[in-house]
Amino acid sequence: TVMPIATVNPATGETLRTFEPLGARALEERIARARSAFEEHRTTGFATRSRLLTRTAELLDHDREDIARTMTLEMGKPVAAARAEAAKCAKAMRWYAEHAPDLLADGYPSPADTEDSGAARVVVRHRPLGVVLAVMPWNFPLWQVVRFAAPALMAGNTGLLKHASNVPQTALYLEDLFRRAGWPEGCFQTLLIGSRAVEGVLRDPRVAAATLTGSEPAGRSVAAIAGDEVKKTVLELGGSDPYIVMPSADVARAADTAVTARTQNNGQSCIAAKRFLVHSDVHDAFCERFTAGMRALTVGDPLEESTDVGPLALEQGRTELEALVDDAVERGARVLTGGRRPPGRDRGWFYEPTVVTGVDPGMRIRREETFGPVATVHRVHSADEAVALANDTPFGLSSNVWTRDPGETERFARDIEAGGVYFNGMTASHPAFPFGGVKRSGYGRELAGQGIREFCNVTTLWYG
Ligand code: NDP
Repeated sequence: TVMPIATVNPATGETLRTFEPLGARALEERIARARSAFEEHRTTGFATRSRLLTRTAELLDHDREDIARTMTLEMGKPVAAARAEAAKCAKAMRWYAEHAPDLLADGYPSPADTEDSGAARVVVRHRPLGVVLAVMPWNFPLWQVVRFAAPALMAGNTGLLKHASNVPQTALYLEDLFRRAGWPEGCFQTLLIGSRAVEGVLRDPRVAAATLTGSEPAGRSVAAIAGDEVKKTVLELGGSDPYIVMPSADVARAADTAVTARTQNNGQSCIAAKRFLVHSDVHDAFCERFTAGMRALTVGDPLEESTDVGPLALEQGRTELEALVDDAVERGARVLTGGRRPPGRDRGWFYEPTVVTGVDPGMRIRREETFGPVATVHRVHSADEAVALANDTPFGLSSNVWTRDPGETERFARDIEAGGVYFNGMTASHPAFPFGGVKRSGYGRELAGQGIREFCNVTTLWYG
């Protein structure tokens, strides 16, 4: 289904604004501008780019309250979380403004290898790739974009954003933000287009590469087209991250953190802990505290400061989440709390924080991502069983392990199939740490040095 490009308040179901998609000529103009901007931008130095990105961060800090409210109206995250997201974006901009010159500094092979090749000098230089298309989701509508744009622009690339159809105002804000900060015309543009128009942009010879964050079907489609065109892609798709609690853990802290890890962003985060694998020695104590914590959350209007959990962003998302829980219950799973829409809220796409146990392999919830505030708790009897169950999923984005046992710590660090293992805490991205997954969670890395080098032409310069 093709979504209209519109702001629909998920707390009320009310359509606030609709937008016309770009026509063919406007789209062509934007692609042409991105390409011509690249010709100039690629020759600028780091000092210029750092100054522009620092200025962008300043403006974003200044706009924080307004853009936070816009995000909340468009996709329903609690407004305090929206402010924190804006602040995190400014931090990532400053981080790349400061560190990009070092991360992309010229490299030099050893004198022995240089001599062995017959060269007087060899330099490995990170040159930009060109126009990068970013297909982005609505769940962190600022952060997902900035995580791409800050390193891409610092590296000398230019960006075209195809944002999710339900966050057009945030998408337009981003274009305006970069423009106001002084980036040359065409360095960063928003394309208000539906998902069907992505193929044409991706196949355009002036577009060099693509990055996508979103669902597996969207990732597969973009990667297949890019493969056909032999264009580089980075994919950050879904996750069903395990959260393992072993007997040596601080169980109370593990349970309290689990509540946040599962329900942050109304449960709609790719790196949210989704499957809670708890050792039988501490299973009941964990379940009791975790369930109580989930039950105690305030579900309500995301513009209220006291709200912990707002609505799901899309009606379809709630329908899918309900179907996963209902299927599990029909097949014998037990609901410890939640499992329904909050009584008395008939407007908006709300769903109660939910804990499900007694999950078995025949249930859809066992294999699919729960993109909302629904946790499954599984009893395990050993580290072996925890590792096996953690890895028994199509996904491999991040993971969490609570243990104080050094041997177990090493074991999990070695054996969990994921792009991250966070011990005694919850997964949270940071500009300095690489971020991404394995298996159906995608490939490539964002953030840190790895992220900024993904869209570089790493060039060997050999001087005879
Ligand atoms: P989608 O993957 O459909 O949307 C993400 C982006 O991809 C949007 O910009 C969307 O555009 C675009 N898109 C969708 N299909 C295609 C396609 N065939 N070709 C090119 N671009 C496409 O996510 P949904 O909003 O539908 O969410 C569904 C599921 O995706 C969630 O339940 C969750 O599992 C996963 N997801 C994961 C996220 C993550 O952070 N890893 C974030 C969001 C969702 P448009 O909006 O116009 O359709």
